[in-house]
Amino acid sequence: MATAKKSSARKSASKRVAKPRVKKSAPVLDEGPPAEPGTTSLVIVESPAKAKTIGKYLGRGYRVKATIGHVRDLPEKKIGIDIENGFEPEYVTIPGKEKTVAELKSAARGVREILLATDPDREGEAIAWHVAGQISRRNGPPVRRVLFHEITKDAVQSAISRAGMIDERKVDAQQARRVLDRLVGYKASPVLWKTVKKGISAGRVQTVALRLLVEREREINAFRAVEYWTVEALLAKDGQEFVAKLHHIDSKKAVIPNEDAAGKIVADLALRETFGITDVKRRERRKNAAPPFTTSTVQQEAAKKLGYGSKRTMRLAQDLYEGIELGSEGAVGLITYMRTDSTRISETSASQARDYVGTLFGKEFVSPSVQLFGDGKARNTQDAHEAVRPTDPTRRPDSIQRFLKPEQFRLYELIWKRFIASQMAPARFDTTTVDFDLSVPADTGLPPLPYLFRSTGSVMKFQGYLALYREAREEGDGHGRPLEEEQALPSMDVGENVPVRRITPSQHFTEPPPRYSEASLVKELERLGIGRPSTYASIISTLVDRRYAQLEQRRFFPTELGDQVERVMVKSFPDIFNVQFTSHMESDLDRIEEGQVNWRKMLTEFYGPFAASLKDADMEALIAEAHDLSALETERCPLDGGKLVARGGFFGPFIACENHPKLCKYTRPLRGDRKPAQLTDQICHECGGP
Ligand SMILES: [Zn+2]
Repeated sequence: MATAKKSSARKSASKRVAKPRVKKSAPVLDEGPPAEPGTTSLVIVESPAKAKTIGKYLGRGYRVKATIGHVRDLPEKKIGIDIENGFEPEYVTIPGKEKTVAELKSAARGVREILLATDPDREGEAIAWHVAGQISRRNGPPVRRVLFHEITKDAVQSAISRAGMIDERKVDAQQARRVLDRLVGYKASPVLWKTVKKGISAGRVQTVALRLLVEREREINAFRAVEYWTVEALLAKDGQEFVAKLHHIDSKKAVIPNEDAAGKIVADLALRETFGITDVKRRERRKNAAPPFTTSTVQQEAAKKLGYGSKRTMRLAQDLYEGIELGSEGAVGLITYMRTDSTRISETSASQARDYVGTLFGKEFVSPSVQLFGDGKARNTQDAHEAVRPTDPTRRPDSIQRFLKPEQFRLYELIWKRFIASQMAPARFDTTTVDFDLSVPADTGLPPLPYLFRSTGSVMKFQGYLALYREAREEGDGHGRPLEEEQALPSMDVGENVPVRRITPSQHFTEPPPRYSEASLVKELERLGIGRPSTYASIISTLVDRRYAQLEQRRFFPTELGDQVERVMVKSFPDIFNVQFTSHMESDLDRIEEGQVNWRKMLTEFYGPFAASLKDADMEALIAEAHDLSALETERCPLDGGKLVARGGFFGPFIACENHPKLCKYTRPLRGDRKPAQLTDQICHECGGP
C-alpha cells in the first residue's frame, strides 16, 4: 500500500516536472539508500505543550520539537500567487520563524527517522508538508507522517507504529483554501478602500457571515410587531392549581386580535364557576440524550452554559487536548482532538462510559444499546475523526479539578458530562393533555360556549440522562418549553367539573427574529455549510476584531462599518459573497481532499467570475451604496459651480468636482459616513415611542 502510493507520487512528480511547486518545496520522501541510521528519532509537532506531553510518552530514543504553528506561508507584502501559472503559491519562511526552521534542520541531521506529528487535519497536514520540504534531504533520514486524535500513551505509540506518508490531497485542499482566501483578501479589499474606508479588509467566508448578521438586522428593522391576546384560566383540583389556555374558538385555533375581543371572551365566561373535562389523553414520551460534542456543538453549548466565546472555547479545548500536568501522573491529554464534525466514538470509550454509568447511577441508567453515533455517510471528509470526548471517561472532573484552571475545569466538566450522558438511558415522562370543551352542554344549566381550553402537563417518571446533563437553551431555540419544565397536573377524568379560580386575558406582541448569538451563529454557519470545525471560531472573532459587528449582551449587532462593507461587497461580488456559492466552495475543498477535484481547476473556476466582477466594479455606484450622497445633488462646486460627484481614491472615497482633475482642483473627504438611522413609524412596545 505505502509502496504503491510512493511510486505513483514519483510518477506524477516526473510528469509535472515543469511545475515549480514540485521542484521547490514538495517533501523529498524516503527515496534512495538511507543515511547512516542514528539512534534517535525526531518527532515534530506544532506546540510546545504537545511536545512535552508526547515526549513523556515516548521517552528515550525520541526527541520532540515544536514548530509553534506554521513555518511557511504566502509572503506578507505581496499577493504571492502566480495566477497565470496554475495559481502557483510562492511560499516564504514566515518572518521570525527562520530560527525555528534552522533548528529543525539541524535537529534532523543524523537521526534515525523524522516523524511529523502535527494535528490530524488540513492545517496540520500542511504544516507537516512545509516542514518536510524544509528539512528533508535526498539520502537523508526517512520522513513519515504520524496521526493521532488523542494524546495518550496508547494512542501516540500505536500511531507511531502506523506511521505513513503525507497526504498530498489534504495539502492540496489546504493550499486551495489559502489561495482562495488570499485572492479574495488581496483583490476585493481595495474595492472597500476606495468606497468605504482605507485599510479595511474583506474575507471570503467572513463576508458571508457578516451578510447573515446584516440581513438579520434588516429583518428586525423591517419587522412590524402585531398585537395579539391570549386568555388563560387558572383551575384548581385537590388544592393543586394549574393553567388551561384558550386553544380553540369555534373549532379553530384561537385568534384574539385585541382587547375588545379578549374582553368579550372574559365576559362570556363570567358565570362559569367550573370547566367540564371533555377529553383526557395520556402518553409516555421519551427524551434521548444528545450525541457527544462536535466542534460546533461544544462551541454552542459552552457559549450558552459558560458564556465562553468560540475562540476561548477552542483555546481551552486545545489546552485540554495537548496535555495538562496531573501531579505525579505527569502531562496527560484529557480530550480527543477538538476540531471535528463527527459525533462518532470508539467502542472502547463507549463501553468505559457505560461501565461508569452503571457504577455511578445504577444499571437502569445505562442506555439500552451501545451508542456509537456513527452517522453512516459522513457529510464531509473531516469525519475521519471522533467526537470531542474525554480520553479516559473514568477521569471524573472533580478528581482532577485541582490541576486545572477554573475555566479549563468548567469546559472539561461540560465535555465529560455530555459524553457520559450520551450512554445513558432516555428520560421518561408521562404527558397529559386535558381538554375543557365548553361547547359541550354541561349540567350547570349555562348555555354552551364556542371555547375549548386545553391544559398540558408532564411529569418525569424516570430521570435517565437528565440526572447528569441538561442541554442549555437560549432565546430563538425553537418553541415551547422542554418537557422537564412543564407543569404537573393533578389526576383528572372525563366528566369531572373543575373549579375555575381566575380568567386572565393578556396582551402580547409578535417578536422579531432574535439577533444572532455566538451559539446561534455557529449553528447557522454549520447548517448552511459555510465554515468548518477549524474555522468557526476565527470567522466569528474576525467580525468583531475588524469592528464589523459588536457583541452586546451576547448578541451580534452589525456596526455601521459592517453594514457598509456588506453593501459594497454584496453589490460588487453578488456571485461570490453568497451562502450557496460559499458552501459550494467549502464542499469543493472537501472534494479536493477526497481526490475528486483538482485544486488548480477549482481555483480557475472560481477566478474567472471573480475577476469579471472586479473589472465591472462601478466605484461611484458602490460609494452611493455605502454612503448617503443625497446632499450632493443640491450642492455645487465652490470654485467653478460644477456638479459634485463621489470618487474612489486610494486613500478612501472622496467628493470631487465633476471637472476634477483636469479643469478644477476641488476635492474634499467624504464624511458623515452613512445615512443616519431613519425613524420608522413602528412603535416600540417597551416604551410606546417611535
Ligand atoms: Zn469645480
